[in-house]
Amino acid sequence: VTELVGSLSADEKYFCCEFFPPKTEQGVENLIGRCRRLVDLGALFVSVTWATGGASAEQTLQLATRFQREIGVPTVLHLTCTNMDREILDHALATAKAAGIRNVLALRGDPPRAEYKQQSELHCAKDLVAYIRKEYGDYFCIGVAGYAEGHADGAVSEQSVEKDMPFLVEKVQAGADFIITQLFYDAEKFIAYEKQCREHPSGVLNSMPIIPGLMPINSYPSLLRSAKLSSANIPPCVLQHFDHIDTKDDVQVKAAGVKIICDILQKLHESGTQGVHFYTLNLEKSVAEIVTKCNMVHMLRNEREELPSSVESLATW
Ligand code: FAD
Repeated sequence: VTELVGSLSADEKYFCCEFFPPKTEQGVENLIGRCRRLVDLGALFVSVTWATGGASAEQTLQLATRFQREIGVPTVLHLTCTNMDREILDHALATAKAAGIRNVLALRGDPPRAEYKQQSELHCAKDLVAYIRKEYGDYFCIGVAGYAEGHADGAVSEQSVEKDMPFLVEKVQAGADFIITQLFYDAEKFIAYEKQCREHPSGVLNSMPIIPGLMPINSYPSLLRSAKLSSANIPPCVLQHFDHIDTKDDVQVKAAGVKIICDILQKLHESGTQGVHFYTLNLEKSVAEIVTKCNMVHMLRNEREELPSSVESLATW
């Protein structure tokens, strides 16, 4: 990821897409098609989620392998470390390496459960980053999660960027290379967060990619649910888009959602942000519309046509 981002000039914008493993074979085939089309539009890389505890381990690994090998798109494998056996983790890392996957997003996952007999010393994302570095050296480019509004472990009142910052710095000092943030709807919050990261006295966040996470809006209830789950504030300038439409009509809501995400992206671009990570929920159309409207399509597609086809060469592209 860092090589890809580093190869762009400062004014080039990029996007990447997150998918989760579908439950059925047909679902996987449909998703391969969607991913391929988003890659054709210029997605710089894609990522595949991992269910806490490793419940989706095989499905995640199979999907990530197909993205990397069949589509030839650099793929980020999400991995969590709590409530999970070490063998599952070791198997995932070995499988990823064998598949030519060079990127991992190292996460804690759900908070440790009291009843779970933790078999490893990997309690939080920082421990996972250090473990991957110890076992694999520099083979993997490692990403970690950031929280533009602070991480809300249970009590929303304790949510604060200041409280989180030392943990983010520790993850980076343990060996992380890039950051993808939790979704948000308030561009100003991300801009302030990025500034805080850049100015952190440790200096370790000065120049590393901090990729903002955005989720296209597919229905009004799903917007409210996603905001609640991720403890994201929905500012009035976003909510007012729904004042004059029927919030039960998903077509109208999606169209408003595209406008909302484009507005957020424009503010981010004006502040100098280059990239965006889309939480796609395995859907394609809104992402395609957003990147088209925000002029993020053309540059990479033109370059991609000249790309070598082998997975090995793509890994270093
Ligand atoms: P950490 O960085 O370990 O910590 C999270 C927070 O816990 C810190 O910010 C801090 O507030 C607190 N904390 C950490 N260490 C300490 C300490 N030593 N003492 C006290 N407090 C501490 N979850 C999944 O299950 N699967 C996925 O695929 C997945 N993908 C994600 C992708 C992105 C981009 C993001 C942002 C999140 C994703 N998550 C996923 C969710 C993630 O697992 C949760 O947000 C989890 O609660 C925290 O993970 P973390 O890696 O940020 O944890």
